Amino acid sequence: MPTLNHTPAFPGPVHAHWRAVAAAKGFDLIARIHDRFHLQLRCRHCSGAFTTKLFTLMRHQPLCPHCLAARRSAVAVAAGVSFLGPDPDRRGYGRFRAPCGHVLTRQFELIDRVAKGQTGLRCETCHAEREASEARRFGWERLGHCPSGQPNYRLYRHHCGHVQRIAQANMLWGQCDCAGCGRGWNAKPSFLYLFRIFLPATTDCPARQYLKLGYSAHPVKRHRHQLGLPRDAQVEVLRVLAMASGHLACRAEQAAHRRLIRAHPEAVVPAAELAGAMNVVREIYRPGLLPVLEAELDRIAAELDAKSGCM
Ligand SMILES: [Zn+2]
Ligand SMILES: [Zn+2]
Ligand SMILES: [Zn+2]
Repeated sequence: MPTLNHTPAFPGPVHAHWRAVAAAKGFDLIARIHDRFHLQLRCRHCSGAFTTKLFTLMRHQPLCPHCLAARRSAVAVAAGVSFLGPDPDRRGYGRFRAPCGHVLTRQFELIDRVAKGQTGLRCETCHAEREASEARRFGWERLGHCPSGQPNYRLYRHHCGHVQRIAQANMLWGQCDCAGCGRGWNAKPSFLYLFRIFLPATTDCPARQYLKLGYSAHPVKRHRHQLGLPRDAQVEVLRVLAMASGHLACRAEQAAHRRLIRAHPEAVVPAAELAGAMNVVREIYRPGLLPVLEAELDRIAAELDAKSGCM
């Protein structure tokens, strides 16, 4: 029996009107394949061959899987990841390699939005590691997600041995008194933080997104109020780094800004653009600078951990 790419061809007539329909839809009909329901087509756009159902060709527009993969790869590159292939288990999901090397399974639709800059993408493995090192700075070991299933809580073990659940946002800012030994973190930390600020569209301006890298001597939990943002602004806390003193935090922050402004002047948002939209106009960056800002904070965190002998 003749074969096509090791798949048996199906002996049977290939009707001229099938060829005509295939041509009209952008394909050459190569052969019948497998059984009486399947055809082998060649895409006229990319020359790739693939199998489709006769029914699909006659009633619908077959999708060339090679062209589809090329489109998905291009979107993935724009989103900062590389496309590995569709998720075999879940329809509408693909597998992507993140810059950190981990493989992420995400909806294609989400990657589209990341590519357009409408949302961010975070590697859960790296994120869990980062949460663990943040907790270590306050004397807690991150054990995992909270057994209650509440997404904002994690389970931690204090250095006294006591295990308790703590809201991740509280741990981030070091606000975590231990119910076992009654002690919190004694030092008065200051914080470097990285926020993503969303400003909704107004009559004369489309929706905007900015990054703010800042320093504070207090947990910045009431972001809107403390940063003087409009009521309808949304703030996402991307990173918080507790520093042993305000002096250290302030120095690290200013050194970071100097480096960033020198290396990426185009990513610094001019104050004039922010006038009227928010009170904070300094140290605001374009969303595309996120990987650079993350790397900057990673570097500062690594220095802190090296100094304190933690990790
Ligand atoms: Zn194609
Ligand atoms: Zn990762
Ligand atoms: Zn304790």
